[in-house]
Amino acid sequence: MSMDCVFCRIIHGKEPSAKVYEDELVVAFLDINPINPGHTLVVPKRHVEYFDQLSDDEAVRMAIVVRRLAKAIIKAVKAHGYNILSNNGVVAGQRIPHLHIHIIPRFKGDGYRFLCKGKPANLSELSKIASKIRDKIIQLNLIK
Ligand code: 5GP
Ligand code: ZN
Repeated sequence: MSMDCVFCRIIHGKEPSAKVYEDELVVAFLDINPINPGHTLVVPKRHVEYFDQLSDDEAVRMAIVVRRLAKAIIKAVKAHGYNILSNNGVVAGQRIPHLHIHIIPRFKGDGYRFLCKGKPANLSELSKIASKIRDKIIQLNLIK
């Protein structure tokens, strides 16, 4: 735990929050500046900055909790849909350096746009990058 980290302080009850879920690996609480009512942050109890620093057990639990909470939140606030997103790294918009997954309920006409349009790529460009990624998967022994 890092006392400098606001999410660690929330996890350890040193900072108030509106918690919605807790188990031995994961905590979820409402965002203090919600984009819409029910905006929830799912965080690992262990202080890590990025999703790729999770253990497999933590990653699986995070995914399961996000799925289950999405169902509960959407019913609780009567949302029409939701975004699941996680900013990893300052360059990606991460402001709190303790990994978190946002569950953001969406309502018809709420006016938010999270999707940016990409630039079209051709298959040979895509194939080169795909090959580099496959090489790294093998080099780093990432998939057994
Ligand atoms: P990020 O930009 O890092 O993906 O998102 C950080 C989120 O944490 C923001 O949506 C922000 O409102 C939320 N946040 C920042 N400080 C606190 C806090 O002290 N308590 C709660 N509940 N949420 C916070
Ligand atoms: Zn932390």
